[in-house]
Amino acid sequence: MSFELNLCVKCGSCKALCPTYIEDVTEGMSARGRVVLLEKFHEGKLEPSKKLDERIFSCMLCGACNKLCPLGINVTDAMYEARNRLRDFNKKRRFLGLGIRLGLKKASNSFRILKFFETINEMLPVFRIYPFSAIKRMDVTLPDSALRDGMSIFRVSKPRGRIAIFAGCSVNFIYPNIGRSLIESLNVMNYDVVLPKGEVCCGAPLMGLGRREDAVEMAERNMNAFKKLNVEAVIGLCPTCIDSIKNGYRSLIGDGIDNAVEVSQFFSKLQPSAFSPQPSKVIYHDPCHSIYGLDVSVEPRQILRSMGFHLMDSERGCCGFGGTFRLLYQELSEGILEKRIEEYKRADMIVTSCPNCILQLRSRIKDRPVRHIAEVINECIRIKACN
Ligand code: SF4
Ligand code: SF4
Repeated sequence: MSFELNLCVKCGSCKALCPTYIEDVTEGMSARGRVVLLEKFHEGKLEPSKKLDERIFSCMLCGACNKLCPLGINVTDAMYEARNRLRDFNKKRRFLGLGIRLGLKKASNSFRILKFFETINEMLPVFRIYPFSAIKRMDVTLPDSALRDGMSIFRVSKPRGRIAIFAGCSVNFIYPNIGRSLIESLNVMNYDVVLPKGEVCCGAPLMGLGRREDAVEMAERNMNAFKKLNVEAVIGLCPTCIDSIKNGYRSLIGDGIDNAVEVSQFFSKLQPSAFSPQPSKVIYHDPCHSIYGLDVSVEPRQILRSMGFHLMDSERGCCGFGGTFRLLYQELSEGILEKRIEEYKRADMIVTSCPNCILQLRSRIKDRPVRHIAEVINECIRIKACN
């Protein structure tokens, strides 16, 4: 497989927004440092080693380097390929990968089991054992029920159209209210809403762990569930999921869900009026896959400004979540998060469009709301201040 890594002129442009480099400040933890290693590894000039494994798996797959490279080198595709080859090199990660694979393939059952463990945590403290301990450190309490379990259709009397939602695992099993907010907004706007049977994990965590064949299975299952739907758009509540089902699936299985959009793209024509939002001083946090994968950063800000929020400027940067990165590199993850916490101190509320960023930011921000833009839009629509 060719990634054109040999075109790399080692200019270092890709380092500028690399979150692990910004945190660690060593060349080996930068995008350029990784490109040098990837080139040698893919050419067969470098054998698997602990150091190589560490460098390749500590990449957050945020995509900033792809966006910044003047030669258009796709660093993350080369990274996925290397991970596929190295996936069993580290025993702890192999164990984690097998557990996540099993958990995601039967996600509804996994949710019920985790909920049960959470209920009996006093008697059987499963959440003290890794990787559950790492999840618990994030202060997550699972909801009583998931957003969807099978097919659901939310109809209105005279629909102007039909929309499907790709909820994603985090909304489905951790923050179902975000999904319910979106369904309500769409119903108020006279859309029938479909949550199809058969949605599974988008496959991104499995790709990140080097389990390409499992990610392919997930991609095929999602394509079967969504491609046959006759809908105006598939709205996603997690940018990583949308980037995967729309763009990532093309290189994985040669097809993608073309009409998949992020919430703020769909609602960008919303007309707010007479809305006095509280709290007013807001920072919008850009999820990495929104800006680097989907090119979405203007739309959510336009929506928030037009609703009357005072949108504060802020330095752009990753929250440090990165899916399994959070479980494998907790210290690094928390260091990256710390920078955002400092930056966001000035705001009364933080808004974003990613449930995983919410999870990460809420693990530290306890005194102010951190909300999904779908919830903010819903509030505006519910009080009839938007149409
Ligand atoms: S920006 Fe592109 S060319 Fe420059 S070091 Fe990074 S990968 Fe190489
Ligand atoms: S994907 Fe992100 S973390 Fe990984 S090398 Fe590129 S910029 Fe750095």
